[in-house]
Amino acid sequence: MRSCPDTVLECLLPLLRHAAQEQTEGESRAAGLAAVVRECGDRLGALVRRAPRAPDDWSVAWTAGCGCELCGTLGAFLGSRSRRTLEWPLAKDGRRHVHSRIDTAELPVDHQTRRQGRPYTLVLTKTEELFSRERASRRQAGDDLTWLASTWNVSGEVAVDPRP
Ligand SMILES: [Zn+2]
Repeated sequence: MRSCPDTVLECLLPLLRHAAQEQTEGESRAAGLAAVVRECGDRLGALVRRAPRAPDDWSVAWTAGCGCELCGTLGAFLGSRSRRTLEWPLAKDGRRHVHSRIDTAELPVDHQTRRQGRPYTLVLTKTEELFSRERASRRQAGDDLTWLASTWNVSGEVAVDPRP
């Protein structure tokens, strides 16, 4: 469980919500879930405490490239803190590949094809969603942590864990 990315929370929290509903008589069922509760508490606490993104940081985390040259160019653009747009003259197959990579990863990047010249130009623009998604997930993590603490009787040590 510890080696999974934070998306594992999308599985574990519904599990705990379901278990909380089922659990009507005593602590017996909760006992086996203590490790899950603690794991969720640690992860949610880390998400809540994470420093907010700097307003000029436009870097988009992405590791799903296939290793080809196009993914290399896309990855360099996404990873850049300062570059928000990329105008990329690219033939059809290349454009299709880049479109599909962006859609598959649901990246906060608008991608349009400007149908002028040869080849057409793929215009990529990082969107404000980069910031709003992070704000929303921080808020959600805070709500989940509150629920976890109240429902699973987690002591304050999880919620206010002082680790950086
Ligand atoms: Zn590729």
